[in-house]
Amino acid sequence: MSSPAGARRRAGERCVTLADRVDAAAAESIAVRSPPTDEVIAQVPDCSRDDVETIVDRARAAQTTWTEWPVEKRVAVLDRFCDSLLEHRRDLLDLIQLETGKPRHNAVEELLDAVGTCTYYVDTAPKLVESERRSGAFPAITDARVHYEPVGVVGVISPWNYPFNLSLTDAIPALAAGNAVVCKPDERTPFATLFAASLLEAAGAPPGLFAVATGRGETTGPALVDAVDHISFTGGTETGRAVAERAGQNLIDCSLELGGKNPFIVLDDANISAAVRGAVAGAFANAGQLCLAPERIYVHESVYEPFLAELCSATESLSIGFEFGYGPDVGSMIDGDHVDRVDGYVQEAIDDGASCHVGGRRRPDVGPHFYEPTILTGVDPDSRIACEETFGPVVSVTPVKDAATAIDMATNTTYGLNGSVWTTDLGRGRHVATSLDCGTVCINDPYLVGWAALDAPMGGVGDSGLGRRHGPEGLRRYLESRTIATSRIGPFVSPSIVPMGLYARALVGSARLQRRLTRLKRRLSPR
Ligand code: NDP
Repeated sequence: MSSPAGARRRAGERCVTLADRVDAAAAESIAVRSPPTDEVIAQVPDCSRDDVETIVDRARAAQTTWTEWPVEKRVAVLDRFCDSLLEHRRDLLDLIQLETGKPRHNAVEELLDAVGTCTYYVDTAPKLVESERRSGAFPAITDARVHYEPVGVVGVISPWNYPFNLSLTDAIPALAAGNAVVCKPDERTPFATLFAASLLEAAGAPPGLFAVATGRGETTGPALVDAVDHISFTGGTETGRAVAERAGQNLIDCSLELGGKNPFIVLDDANISAAVRGAVAGAFANAGQLCLAPERIYVHESVYEPFLAELCSATESLSIGFEFGYGPDVGSMIDGDHVDRVDGYVQEAIDDGASCHVGGRRRPDVGPHFYEPTILTGVDPDSRIACEETFGPVVSVTPVKDAATAIDMATNTTYGLNGSVWTTDLGRGRHVATSLDCGTVCINDPYLVGWAALDAPMGGVGDSGLGRRHGPEGLRRYLESRTIATSRIGPFVSPSIVPMGLYARALVGSARLQRRLTRLKRRLSPR
């Protein structure tokens, strides 16, 4: 492993080269800063509406070649791309760390997620895009086939917290399905996505097929929504609403992965040490800047005291700092505005009577945007910190008298992204899980076991989003279905020699017969 200074210098030089890849005549540029030091890494173009249109036009041209390739040839490119992600992992991890300030182990999560997603869709895409035979209107004399076509150009708008994998986890299935992708990463974290675009091209993708339009959310974002055929958005709920509204105006489909206020329920029979390990790993991963992170912990009153004591002691022992390479447990937050926001929530909760057991402090001695992992109790259930997503290293702990109360409190929210249930009785865990109104619920794990189940759909309900990523659903959202139905006996109109009344009676008789046959089939092979 090279020296930290060497890693920083090399990653910085790579960023300058990557910025040149953006196909833009933009007059304006954006200075991207490294969160742990606040130093400027490099400038990227602030793409105008014209720039976005040019990039999307180029992607559209590349897509016409890509979609003509057999799916096996397309996934072979993605397979090589996946190999190259592993091959270039050191450079990639340095880049992710430089632009996010996260610990290396959280950067590894990004790499592994992209590799897992690629491996999954390389394997499954050929089957998912195959045309299918469905039942025709009338057995034997008609048939129906469904063909799946790529929608065209998919726009991916991604946030800063996991910039690499949240761009790729939506882009890879879109590409495998035969689409082009234009990605707008967050203006604070464009480089890992630009690196991915360069590696994909080196793996054999037509130039411009996976393009990056750097720029600001309020200008580049809407321009992208206006130019593409599907928009896949990950970010905050309010921005998601604006994106959905615009997609609606343009009559294009959208998938939205939004925020959460994720509950974590510890039942009376839980393994307390395992639950504490899960709470620390979940709540403080990436300094709590993780959409799936638990923010509200409900603990059965019989185990509340030992759980809280062990949680506080495990949290106090976390190290804070930044290093290229495997170092501190908790890294930097993204910027000063976000630290101010999180600290504002914490101080307001304390002013309203909450107790702060651990943390609750900025750490300017470590770097400009560091904040201590924080544990609060006695939080007012109607306060902002109890109801709104904090998106920082802060968790509240509340005792509950039974599982039903925990479920009531957990579901008292407009969000529904991810829940977590801790118990040694898995049947009981599944029962509680089905009562939580969330897109994903993990039993005896904070989030990873759900996220990493790449064959299963993932997404939110309510204010947490629309649509699903991962699994077959994650690819099919990027396909348009076209049904081709055939009649083997000519048109279904009344033959001129048969009176209309007789023809209508024959059709009704045939509908009756079909209903009888369907019932018989159900009786012979019940579910
Ligand atoms: P934002 O919604 O502010 O930004 C997300 C992306 O949208 C950025 O690229 C941003 O660009 C862009 N954007 C901003 N305004 C517009 C607009 N009007 N039209 C189109 N695009 C726009 O999210 P945050 O930065 O606050 O990111 C954190 C949020 O993301 C949290 O709420 C978190 O829960 C959520 N998230 C959800 C995940 C999930 O899978 N459900 C995963 C990770 C995060 P720019 O910043 O450059 O202006």
